[in-house]
Amino acid sequence: MSNLKPWEISQKIDNALQAIAISEISKFYHSYIAKITNLPLGVVIDKLAELEKQEALVIKLEFHCEECSRSILTANKYDLGNIDSITCKYCGTENCFDPLNAIPIIELSEDFKQSF
Ligand SMILES: [Zn+2]
Repeated sequence: MSNLKPWEISQKIDNALQAIAISEISKFYHSYIAKITNLPLGVVIDKLAELEKQEALVIKLEFHCEECSRSILTANKYDLGNIDSITCKYCGTENCFDPLNAIPIIELSEDFKQSF
């Protein structure tokens, strides 16, 4: 893996994102890209952060219920200011809001998707 050139890494990521763009997938995790590209997770995280700056995608934060583990909130990083608890709509558990519990989830931007 360590002998991959930067352009090869970019190419693998681009191919993966293109496949997603033309598929039915609307949201995905970094781990999914790592799995389909065979790249280390850290490399994927760095590359997708770059692509977020280029506005090809948006990285949101997903929160899961501590009790039933279902996804209870997906939000933009900038919209988390005044949340202090989230009641789970599935099991009713009131979850303390902690940004450290967030799982990043990626959505491709509409114009990026339409470029394929
Ligand atoms: Zn729950």
